[in-house]
Amino acid sequence: MSPSIKSLIRTIPDFPKPGIQFRDITTLLADAEGLKLTIDLLADRYRNKGISKVAGIESRGFILGAPLAIALGAGFVPIRKPGKLPGEKIGLDYQLEYGHDRVEIHVDAIARGEKVLLVDDLIATGGTALAAASLIEQVGGALLECAFVIDLPDLGGRERLHAAGYSTYALCEFEGD
Ligand code: AMP
Repeated sequence: MSPSIKSLIRTIPDFPKPGIQFRDITTLLADAEGLKLTIDLLADRYRNKGISKVAGIESRGFILGAPLAIALGAGFVPIRKPGKLPGEKIGLDYQLEYGHDRVEIHVDAIARGEKVLLVDDLIATGGTALAAASLIEQVGGALLECAFVIDLPDLGGRERLHAAGYSTYALCEFEGD
Protein backbone atom coordinates (compact mmCIF):
# COMPACT_ATOMS: atom_id res chain seq x y z
CA MET A 1 0.00 0.00 0.00
CA SER A 2 1.27 3.46 -0.76
CA PRO A 3 -0.18 6.25 1.44
CA SER A 4 1.49 9.01 -0.58
CA ILE A 5 -0.13 7.80 -3.78
CA LYS A 6 -3.53 7.54 -2.10
CA SER A 7 -3.24 11.11 -0.78
CA LEU A 8 -2.73 12.42 -4.34
CA ILE A 9 -5.98 10.86 -5.63
CA ARG A 10 -8.99 13.16 -5.53
CA THR A 11 -12.55 12.01 -4.82
CA ILE A 12 -15.37 13.68 -6.73
CA PRO A 13 -18.77 12.80 -5.27
CA ASP A 14 -21.75 12.02 -7.53
CA PHE A 15 -19.76 11.71 -10.76
CA PRO A 16 -20.70 10.62 -13.40
CA LYS A 17 -24.02 10.02 -11.65
CA PRO A 18 -25.49 10.38 -8.16
CA GLY A 19 -24.10 7.97 -5.58
CA ILE A 20 -20.76 7.30 -7.32
CA GLN A 21 -17.60 8.40 -5.52
CA PHE A 22 -15.34 9.00 -8.51
CA ARG A 23 -11.67 8.35 -7.68
CA ASP A 24 -9.92 10.86 -9.90
CA ILE A 25 -6.26 10.10 -10.73
CA THR A 26 -5.71 13.31 -12.74
CA THR A 27 -4.35 14.91 -9.55
CA LEU A 28 -1.88 12.02 -9.16
CA LEU A 29 -0.87 12.21 -12.84
CA ALA A 30 -0.33 15.98 -12.59
CA ASP A 31 2.08 15.57 -9.68
CA ALA A 32 5.59 14.95 -11.08
CA GLU A 33 6.77 12.95 -8.06
CA GLY A 34 3.48 11.09 -7.70
CA LEU A 35 3.46 10.05 -11.34
CA LYS A 36 7.07 8.86 -11.17
CA LEU A 37 6.45 6.99 -7.90
CA THR A 38 3.41 5.23 -9.39
CA ILE A 39 5.39 3.95 -12.38
CA ASP A 40 8.47 3.16 -10.25
CA LEU A 41 6.49 1.09 -7.71
CA LEU A 42 4.82 -0.93 -10.46
CA ALA A 43 8.07 -1.34 -12.41
CA ASP A 44 9.87 -2.53 -9.24
CA ARG A 45 7.25 -5.23 -8.70
CA TYR A 46 7.34 -6.54 -12.28
CA ARG A 47 11.01 -6.14 -13.27
CA ASN A 48 12.86 -9.35 -14.24
CA LYS A 49 9.63 -11.34 -14.51
CA GLY A 50 9.95 -11.95 -18.22
CA ILE A 51 7.07 -9.64 -19.14
CA SER A 52 7.28 -8.72 -22.82
CA LYS A 53 3.89 -6.97 -23.22
CA VAL A 54 2.00 -4.54 -21.00
CA ALA A 55 -1.69 -4.36 -21.96
CA GLY A 56 -3.51 -1.18 -20.91
CA ILE A 57 -7.28 -0.69 -20.83
CA GLU A 58 -8.64 2.45 -22.52
CA SER A 59 -8.15 5.15 -21.51
CA ARG A 60 -6.47 5.61 -18.14
CA GLY A 61 -4.74 2.23 -18.53
CA PHE A 62 -2.97 3.73 -21.56
CA ILE A 63 -1.50 6.58 -19.51
CA LEU A 64 -0.01 4.15 -16.98
CA GLY A 65 0.72 1.25 -19.30
CA ALA A 66 2.99 2.94 -21.84
CA PRO A 67 5.58 4.34 -19.38
CA LEU A 68 5.43 1.08 -17.41
CA ALA A 69 6.12 -0.88 -20.61
CA ILE A 70 9.15 1.32 -21.32
CA ALA A 71 10.42 0.85 -17.75
CA LEU A 72 10.10 -2.94 -18.11
CA GLY A 73 11.61 -3.07 -21.60
CA ALA A 74 8.28 -4.42 -22.87
CA GLY A 75 5.91 -3.48 -25.68
CA PHE A 76 2.49 -1.87 -25.13
CA VAL A 77 -0.85 -3.34 -26.25
CA PRO A 78 -4.03 -1.23 -26.20
CA ILE A 79 -7.31 -2.85 -25.14
CA ARG A 80 -9.91 -0.53 -26.60
CA LYS A 81 -13.56 0.40 -26.54
CA PRO A 82 -15.51 -0.85 -29.61
CA GLY A 83 -14.83 0.45 -33.10
CA LYS A 84 -11.40 1.98 -32.46
CA LEU A 85 -8.92 -0.73 -33.51
CA PRO A 86 -8.27 -0.81 -37.26
CA GLY A 87 -6.89 -4.34 -37.70
CA GLU A 88 -8.31 -7.84 -37.26
CA LYS A 89 -9.66 -7.99 -33.73
CA ILE A 90 -11.73 -9.92 -31.22
CA GLY A 91 -13.98 -8.43 -28.55
CA LEU A 92 -15.97 -9.32 -25.49
CA ASP A 93 -19.18 -7.80 -24.12
CA TYR A 94 -19.60 -7.52 -20.38
CA GLN A 95 -22.31 -6.37 -18.02
CA LEU A 96 -22.28 -3.05 -16.22
CA GLU A 97 -24.61 -2.11 -13.37
CA TYR A 98 -26.91 -0.64 -16.02
CA GLY A 99 -26.42 -1.89 -19.56
CA HIS A 100 -23.25 -3.35 -21.02
CA ASP A 101 -19.87 -2.42 -22.46
CA ARG A 102 -17.31 -4.04 -24.73
CA VAL A 103 -13.52 -4.22 -25.06
CA GLU A 104 -11.48 -5.28 -28.09
CA ILE A 105 -7.90 -6.36 -28.87
CA HIS A 106 -5.96 -6.94 -32.10
CA VAL A 107 -5.56 -10.68 -32.69
CA ASP A 108 -1.87 -10.27 -33.59
CA ALA A 109 -0.98 -7.97 -30.65
CA ILE A 110 0.52 -10.74 -28.52
CA ALA A 111 2.57 -13.74 -29.62
CA ARG A 112 1.54 -17.19 -28.36
CA GLY A 113 2.89 -17.76 -24.84
CA GLU A 114 4.15 -14.20 -24.34
CA LYS A 115 4.06 -13.03 -20.71
CA VAL A 116 1.63 -10.14 -20.32
CA LEU A 117 0.85 -7.67 -17.54
CA LEU A 118 -2.62 -6.06 -17.59
CA VAL A 119 -2.90 -2.49 -16.26
CA ASP A 120 -5.80 -0.17 -15.46
CA ASP A 121 -6.25 2.73 -13.06
CA LEU A 122 -8.95 1.14 -10.92
CA ILE A 123 -10.76 -2.12 -10.21
CA ALA A 124 -14.36 -1.83 -9.06
CA THR A 125 -16.63 -4.79 -9.94
CA GLY A 126 -13.84 -6.34 -12.01
CA GLY A 127 -15.99 -6.72 -15.11
CA THR A 128 -13.71 -4.65 -17.34
CA ALA A 129 -10.51 -6.35 -16.20
CA LEU A 130 -12.10 -9.81 -16.45
CA ALA A 131 -13.11 -9.19 -20.06
CA ALA A 132 -9.65 -7.76 -20.88
CA ALA A 133 -7.91 -10.73 -19.20
CA SER A 134 -10.01 -13.16 -21.19
CA LEU A 135 -9.14 -11.40 -24.47
CA ILE A 136 -5.41 -11.53 -23.64
CA GLU A 137 -5.67 -15.29 -23.12
CA GLN A 138 -7.80 -15.77 -26.24
CA VAL A 139 -5.08 -14.21 -28.42
CA GLY A 140 -2.48 -16.49 -26.81
CA GLY A 141 -0.98 -14.38 -24.02
CA ALA A 142 0.08 -15.76 -20.63
CA LEU A 143 -1.34 -13.26 -18.16
CA LEU A 144 1.01 -12.80 -15.20
CA GLU A 145 -1.07 -10.37 -13.13
CA CYS A 146 -3.63 -7.55 -13.31
CA ALA A 147 -2.21 -4.34 -11.78
CA PHE A 148 -4.20 -1.32 -10.62
CA VAL A 149 -3.46 1.94 -8.87
CA ILE A 150 -6.75 1.70 -6.92
CA ASP A 151 -8.83 -1.20 -5.61
CA LEU A 152 -12.38 -0.61 -4.37
CA PRO A 153 -12.58 -3.78 -2.21
CA ASP A 154 -16.24 -3.31 -1.30
CA LEU A 155 -17.21 -3.94 -4.93
CA GLY A 156 -15.64 -7.41 -5.00
CA GLY A 157 -13.66 -7.17 -8.22
CA ARG A 158 -10.52 -8.64 -6.74
CA GLU A 159 -12.39 -11.75 -5.52
CA ARG A 160 -14.07 -12.07 -8.91
CA LEU A 161 -10.71 -12.04 -10.71
CA HIS A 162 -9.18 -14.45 -8.20
CA ALA A 163 -12.14 -16.83 -8.63
CA ALA A 164 -11.44 -16.80 -12.37
CA GLY A 165 -7.80 -17.71 -11.70
CA TYR A 166 -6.21 -14.28 -12.18
CA SER A 167 -3.76 -12.67 -9.78
CA THR A 168 -4.23 -8.99 -8.85
CA TYR A 169 -2.24 -6.18 -7.27
CA ALA A 170 -3.15 -2.58 -6.34
CA LEU A 171 -1.12 0.31 -4.95
CA CYS A 172 -3.94 1.55 -2.70
CA GLU A 173 -7.53 0.90 -1.62
CA PHE A 174 -10.57 3.08 -1.02
CA GLU A 175 -13.13 1.44 1.23
CA GLY A 176 -16.73 2.46 1.70
CA ASP A 177 -17.55 2.87 -2.00
P1 AMP B 1 -15.24 -2.32 -13.16
O1 AMP B 1 -15.37 -2.96 -14.51
O2 AMP B 1 -16.54 -2.26 -12.43
O3 AMP B 1 -14.13 -2.95 -12.34
O4 AMP B 1 -14.85 -0.79 -13.40
C1 AMP B 1 -13.55 -0.45 -13.71
C2 AMP B 1 -13.47 0.63 -14.75
O5 AMP B 1 -14.40 1.68 -14.52
C3 AMP B 1 -12.08 1.24 -14.72
O6 AMP B 1 -11.66 1.45 -16.06
C4 AMP B 1 -12.28 2.55 -13.97
O7 AMP B 1 -11.53 3.56 -14.58
C5 AMP B 1 -13.78 2.85 -14.04
N1 AMP B 1 -14.36 3.12 -12.70
C6 AMP B 1 -15.29 2.35 -12.05
N2 AMP B 1 -15.65 2.87 -10.87
C7 AMP B 1 -14.92 4.00 -10.72
C8 AMP B 1 -14.81 5.00 -9.67
N3 AMP B 1 -15.52 4.92 -8.53
N4 AMP B 1 -13.93 6.01 -9.85
C9 AMP B 1 -13.19 6.09 -10.99
N5 AMP B 1 -13.26 5.21 -12.01
C10 AMP B 1 -14.10 4.16 -11.89
